[in-house]
Amino acid sequence: SQRTLVLLKPDTVRRGLVGQVLSRLEAKGLALVAMELRTIDAAQADRHYAEHVERDFYPPLRDFVTSGPLVALVVEGDEAIEVVRALNGATDGRKAAPGTIRGDLSLSNRENLVHGSDSPESAEREIGLWFPHL
Ligand code: ATP
Repeated sequence: SQRTLVLLKPDTVRRGLVGQVLSRLEAKGLALVAMELRTIDAAQADRHYAEHVERDFYPPLRDFVTSGPLVALVVEGDEAIEVVRALNGATDGRKAAPGTIRGDLSLSNRENLVHGSDSPESAEREIGLWFPHL
């Protein structure tokens, strides 16, 4: 079994969709290992998105992810990394397939509700960054 880091970004909290998104992860059979409501500063955003800090889309993304509380969680299950990314859907909510979290609930490329680690290496790095005790 595998662990992955999931973020329910500030739009999920603001829109009152935490329960709905969490339900999908739970219903799929993923186990909750850690979960915390947290408001992050720019330094934590930069560490999390280290691979994106130089990109054009990053400054507004940083403003967005620091704009209010988000829910950080670690979930565990068979192939959890790929499973979460499949549940999340394509990055752009306007293009994500119906049936996915973004496809059903987001109409934005930036405010796309969720994050999921994209590889075992990212999962290990991100879990260490958000939940150093794990
Ligand atoms: P995540 O890493 O959040 O699960 P992802 O892997 O689908 O999403 P990345 O390409 O890693 O997407 O981009 C990270 C985040 O940056 C996206 O989730 C989105 O919020 C934002 N983002 C990516 N591309 C754009 C863009 N072109 N315009 C605006 N925001 C973007």
